[in-house]
Amino acid sequence: VPAQAAASHDPRPDAPRPIPAVLGADLEVPVKGGRLVGYANLDYAASAPCLEPVSAAVAAALPAYSSVHRGAGYASQLTTARYEQARHTVRAFAGARPDDAVVFTRNTTDATNLLARCLPEGTTVVVFDSEHHASLLPWERSVRLAPPAFPGEAVRAADEALAAVDGPKLLVVTAASNVTGELWPIAALAHIAHRHGARVLVDAAQLVPHRPLNLTALDLDYVAFSGHKLYAPFGAGVLVGRRDWLAAGEPYLKGGGAVRSVGTADEGPAGVDWYDDPEPRHEAGTPNVLGAIAIAAACDALTATGWDTLVCEEERLIARLRAGLAAIAGVRELSLWGPDHPRVGIVSFTVDGYSAREVAEALSGEYGIGVRDGKFCAHPFLRHLLGESGGGCEDGTASAVRASIGIGTTEEHVDRLVAAVRDLASRA
Ligand code: PLP
Repeated sequence: VPAQAAASHDPRPDAPRPIPAVLGADLEVPVKGGRLVGYANLDYAASAPCLEPVSAAVAAALPAYSSVHRGAGYASQLTTARYEQARHTVRAFAGARPDDAVVFTRNTTDATNLLARCLPEGTTVVVFDSEHHASLLPWERSVRLAPPAFPGEAVRAADEALAAVDGPKLLVVTAASNVTGELWPIAALAHIAHRHGARVLVDAAQLVPHRPLNLTALDLDYVAFSGHKLYAPFGAGVLVGRRDWLAAGEPYLKGGGAVRSVGTADEGPAGVDWYDDPEPRHEAGTPNVLGAIAIAAACDALTATGWDTLVCEEERLIARLRAGLAAIAGVRELSLWGPDHPRVGIVSFTVDGYSAREVAEALSGEYGIGVRDGKFCAHPFLRHLLGESGGGCEDGTASAVRASIGIGTTEEHVDRLVAAVRDLASRA
């Protein structure tokens, strides 16, 4: 991984920086026979390892942190400034409009649920069955569409479904599938949604670690993503987008920080004056300041490295991985739109003669490789791709193995996975 190892001595302040290192790159794990081997983490789509600059930013904030927004003390003011700077960084990273809200949440699931609580009365949500459960389930009233056979059909299906709906409408769609890694035509979908007076929420959880996002250029209304998939630790995510629905929605949590004033017991709920601004309104209680700082540091690190560098390295490795797997008899890659459709660094596959769990356990126990197996919180999509029992889960239902890559993935990790799967397939 030359770019990662190389130190940059370029004196230009705006010169791209080398790809940052991840924590845990030298982790060793036991395999069969008690041997220790270097861990090949190929499970980035679940949670990506923390970047060193992210860890450094959190460490720098730890010595002088104090509660945000309320304290007059220096540490409190400093922490408040860092928290609000993090919001500003996320806004820029997402390419948000100047008047968009940036609300810190716990994760993507929390962000989609927050928006679900703020939908105007009677809103119908149109959503594809290929979504992660975080984007499929939070809606009170939804129209679920079959996964489309090609990208153009996604646009046509959304067009038809939105035309058939009266009242407020929201189209919810992933930017990059957590199962196949395939990129969805979000700009075209947003365009069609707006023609029907609908808004669009894009689940960008699997996009932002791999590709730039520009909410303004794509004309999206809302985006949601998680810090822990973006090389920051667990516990923080964001919802970015239009203020009006969020300002009118019930405060997500009720408590301190979300209110201007609270009246007497006699006045009851009518005496509570909630903030209208979505940020304080939906961030009651002491927020996850370190989580926000971590997300912002990850945004900064990716931006400083430059997307050309990151995408180029990822595409090289994912092409190597897919070509290696494709050459193995009995291995089938999951895909909605065919092997040539653009995708991020995620590949799901099945191996004839094995359940997904057997493959994942063997990869871990014999080869020191970490992957994910199962249905990836996308049960309807797995059924669509594999049928009721394809791939094979212990309970006889559809499931697959998922390998996912990112910063810190090496050719050796990729080659080890391919060799291990070849080995397993030959023993089936
Ligand atoms: N959306 C997609 C596409 C995902 O891959 C995931 C996580 O796997 C989520 C949403 C939910 O993210 P979180 O568990 O951080 O809420």
